[in-house]
Amino acid sequence: MSETTTTNTTASATTTEALRERALKLDAADQLADRRELFALDDGVYLDGNSLGALPAHVPARVQDVLTRQWGELRIRSWEESGWWTAPERIGDRIAPLVGAAAGQIVVGDSTSVNVFKAVVAAARIAGEGRDEILVDATTFPTDGYIAASAARLTGHRIVPVAPADVPAALGPRTAVVLLNQVDYRSGRLHDLPGLTAAVHAAGAVAVWDLCHSAGALPVGLDEHGVDLAVGCTYKYLNGGPGSPAYLYVAERHQAAFDSPLPGWNSHADPFGMTPDYAPADGSARGRVGTPDIVSMLTLEAALDAWDGVEVDAVRAKSLALTDFFLECVEAYVPAGRVTSVTPAAHAERGSQVALRCDNAESVMRRLIERGVVGDLRRPDVLRFGFTPLYVGFADAERAARVLAEVLAETAGA
Ligand SMILES: *Cc1c(COP(=O)(O)O)cnc(C)c1O
Repeated sequence: MSETTTTNTTASATTTEALRERALKLDAADQLADRRELFALDDGVYLDGNSLGALPAHVPARVQDVLTRQWGELRIRSWEESGWWTAPERIGDRIAPLVGAAAGQIVVGDSTSVNVFKAVVAAARIAGEGRDEILVDATTFPTDGYIAASAARLTGHRIVPVAPADVPAALGPRTAVVLLNQVDYRSGRLHDLPGLTAAVHAAGAVAVWDLCHSAGALPVGLDEHGVDLAVGCTYKYLNGGPGSPAYLYVAERHQAAFDSPLPGWNSHADPFGMTPDYAPADGSARGRVGTPDIVSMLTLEAALDAWDGVEVDAVRAKSLALTDFFLECVEAYVPAGRVTSVTPAAHAERGSQVALRCDNAESVMRRLIERGVVGDLRRPDVLRFGFTPLYVGFADAERAARVLAEVLAETAGA
């Protein structure tokens, strides 16, 4: 993890010096730079926040309180007195401004996978009779595809795999639901949520968006763009912790028609009435299922404090500047032909990660991690580097590119 040695042979010492100086200037001008102190980080470069966000340092003490006082002392009283019962909607309202949603439309709970199931089945029911196709991003994160396929079997629909760019051409009078990711988990490509949502609506279908790789990294504008239903996880850019509960957005105009395929007692209008017949709650609570995972949920709630006072537009601006700068450093340091970016160069098509195709990607990533530059691998040959603007800076980007060049120089021809 040496900061001083540069063993790569392609970049001149002056190039390296110039890039390091630029990095320092960019960090000095960065309005979000002070956020990094809020996180428990070491002196490595953590570029895997798109898989597991870093721990905000204040969280353990808050969780300790949940365990020892709320559970240990108040016990059952905490459902009321510590706000446990209403946590799913309360925390949903904390996430809402980060994804451009007014209050009352997001509920937190369950995994993204489970929420994909709720959303796709409910969307198919909203779309109504006579529409029998569910269009699914052909390159989607596997769980979305698996769950959509099962939802289709249950509801008597047919799955149509389609590349997001081809969705407009694939839409028709038979389309019921379109399930898309705003940002592709592998390539980091940002899809046109406003345009695709409008196209889905023009065809009379229902748009379901998965925000796992966009929420907390860029403005989503759920309300503004008329998205129908959306899901997302909270352990990536939102730093909620391993396995922290996901969320479900149901636009207010669809809430009355939202017919959950998992109508548990927590989504009942009168949960403690314990009646044999199901009557759904109004509002976002309709998306609940069973007893919420309170410890994880309150861990997430505490973690969201790291977002207080942060504008998503500022996050987006920094994210683009960071990924631009990282690509520039890679270009300057890495010998030509060793890596190819599969992340679009155009800002309008880029999320908050850079994915580089590379030979021997597995051993390259292992060596990077050994030197304190933590990204991850999507087999067989993609190195992923996630840039989380709350705690990654420009010097980190420069160092990651420099260490990558060193590793590649050592593994030349390997
Ligand atoms: C991370 C991710 C998931 C994760 O689903 P879990 O149910 O939390 O395991 C789902 N979909 C996409 C697109 C993701 O990026």
